[in-house]
Amino acid sequence: MDAAMALSQRQPIASDGPALRVSGITPLTTIDFPDHLTCVLYSQGCPLRCGYCQNPNLIPFETDEEQLDWPAVEQFLQRRIGLLEAVVFSGGEPTLQPGLHAAMRAVVRLGFKVGLHTAGVSCSRLAELLGLLDWVGLDVKAPDDLYQRVTGRRHQARENHRCLELLLNSTTPFECRTTVHWQLLQPDDLLRLARQLAEWGVRQYAVQISHGHSCLDPALKQNPALPTALKAGLQTELSGLFERFEWRE
Ligand code: SF4
Repeated sequence: MDAAMALSQRQPIASDGPALRVSGITPLTTIDFPDHLTCVLYSQGCPLRCGYCQNPNLIPFETDEEQLDWPAVEQFLQRRIGLLEAVVFSGGEPTLQPGLHAAMRAVVRLGFKVGLHTAGVSCSRLAELLGLLDWVGLDVKAPDDLYQRVTGRRHQARENHRCLELLLNSTTPFECRTTVHWQLLQPDDLLRLARQLAEWGVRQYAVQISHGHSCLDPALKQNPALPTALKAGLQTELSGLFERFEWRE
């Protein structure tokens, strides 16, 4: 939000359609779009309830918290032309925002690449956006039988599969990523998920270890560490399944 307060008074370029509401901005990051300098725009609202969610304030679709108007965000982006390479839309769940397509088109007109972080909750929305996307980070939360436990919502695994299938059949580069809290997923669960993804043709995969801080479910504030040897063996097995694998902790 700090960056938003430094927005210039320049006029935004016109963007058609309903305006995207943005809850916050990370003005510069090197880790949210591989090999690119990016900023991240966080949108409000998510239909899932992952217990480890570290942005629970972004889950409600309606909130009293201050939102940034899209014109103000465009002003910020205009000042970053030549400094940033890409803009990543994150959340919350950005694909459910009616203003996302128009916002992405505006970003393209400004000359930035477009990245998307999504939990894969709407294949039809993702399909509408696909032609605008230069890179996607797709959350795959768990093996099918544990999807409800991790997300707090029923019937999400099937839609996530459809999103993954769409990406696998596209030319858009993407990464699958799984956030892990060891009270929700066991190492064997992670391994069978990864093997399934590799079998389907996923080539880039990341495991993100939940730190628990400020998470939605207070019972998940502590994430027990794996024994060193178990962790090393798991990392070796996972990295052997994919062309590019990262363990983020
Ligand atoms: S962690 Fe889960 S609940 Fe939180 S924003 Fe991401 S998908 Fe939504």
